[in-house]
Amino acid sequence: MKKTFSIGGVHPADKKISAGCRIEVLPTPQTVYISMSQHLGAPATPVVAVGDKVKAGQVIGEPAGFISAYVHSSVSGTVKSIGPRPDLAGNKVTHIEIAVEGDEWADGIDLSETLVTEIPADNRFIIDRIKSNGVVGLGGATFPTHVKLTPLEGKKAEILILNGAECEPYLTSDYRIMLEKPDQIVIGAAIMKQVLGGSRTVIGIEDNKPEAIESVRTAISRLQAKSASYSGIEVAVLKKKYPQGGEKQLIDAVAHRQVKSMGLPIDVGAVVQNVATSLAVYDAVMKNRPLTTNTLTVTGDCLPADRQKNYLFRIGVPFSFIIEQDGGIPEGAVKVISGGPMMGKAISNLDATTVKGSSSVLYLTAEQTVRKPESNCIRCAKCVEACPMGLEPFLLNKLARNGMMDELEQNAIQDCIECGCCLYSCPANIPLLDVIRVAKGDVMRAIRARSAKK
Ligand code: SF4
Ligand code: SF4
Repeated sequence: MKKTFSIGGVHPADKKISAGCRIEVLPTPQTVYISMSQHLGAPATPVVAVGDKVKAGQVIGEPAGFISAYVHSSVSGTVKSIGPRPDLAGNKVTHIEIAVEGDEWADGIDLSETLVTEIPADNRFIIDRIKSNGVVGLGGATFPTHVKLTPLEGKKAEILILNGAECEPYLTSDYRIMLEKPDQIVIGAAIMKQVLGGSRTVIGIEDNKPEAIESVRTAISRLQAKSASYSGIEVAVLKKKYPQGGEKQLIDAVAHRQVKSMGLPIDVGAVVQNVATSLAVYDAVMKNRPLTTNTLTVTGDCLPADRQKNYLFRIGVPFSFIIEQDGGIPEGAVKVISGGPMMGKAISNLDATTVKGSSSVLYLTAEQTVRKPESNCIRCAKCVEACPMGLEPFLLNKLARNGMMDELEQNAIQDCIECGCCLYSCPANIPLLDVIRVAKGDVMRAIRARSAKK
């Protein structure tokens, strides 16, 4: 039976135009700029100096706290500068500029395509490999994976859920890796399952991706025939509904458990990882390969069919380089987004560089971006019906516009996952997401300041 979450959600058109495009390797530019802020938590601290020669896969940034991650060079070459540079939102963050010379990799990294299926028995070794290879969640949050796989004392992961939903319209990179690297994804899942104490493992894939469902199921059977390490892993077919890939929505759909306000998945015995993270875990543990590449989709209605792509890119490549390699900004495009159209962020600075979590270059047309004139709320409650977190977006909008911080917190604005379902549903064209996102930021800052004082 197909599974889905119990409240809210919307059904935007699929638009998986690039689904049929095999992953191609993006050429390496002459210069990359590698951000030290590619993960949730404290930015990494640079550990190289201007003039240093570096190899691909070499550590160039070390974690600066418990929630932080290693950063590696994705190329070999010479460090040209270290300093602030605008990211895609225009915020200045520390980047390491590297002029590319050759393609020499650090020692001990297995770059071969040979599939390794025998999972190391030592869980400490596995966690160290995941940490030292800089693996972070690639489903959007970029939370350091080694931290998520080490539940706090007293917490137990009873179920590991892999997110293969890719519920955002247009994006197809997860779909492609499920078709092209299914064994590696399943091995990554088995590694995480072992570390978490043998939890039941479910890979959730939406029903609009039958080939991916078949591909992953076949890989599971293939691996289960080889070793008992792969038992207890299954695919759950999910109904296509946005935001099916949201952490709390996946847990609801697959395990019928509800994460409370401000709670974490582990509170209900669940850990959620993305399929791309699972692939990165495989690379880190079985090949000692750091997270220096990822796959992204280049797409949009205005992009000709032969320029729709899924690229394997080196982290730190500027978006402008990807756009140039793909033939430039297509005619009719007025906005470029990184991520999907529902939750993605506009790229205000095309010279910004890709990070571990980059998932797309999406071109939108004027028709797709124009905001219709806002009118008064007609109290239709469509935003309430659509909200997958059970919030009342019309009320949050009103409270936010009146600066009523205490009331916003009482009405759980902090639980908003910024999915945009309310904005998508509102017939009065009220910019609900924009207003709520800003107010949520203010409330979260107030909550953090309050807990810091305690
Ligand atoms: S953006 Fe927030 S308030 Fe709006 S539907 Fe999503 S979770 Fe609800
Ligand atoms: S969907 Fe828009 S018009 Fe309807 S209640 Fe919500 S804010 Fe008001």
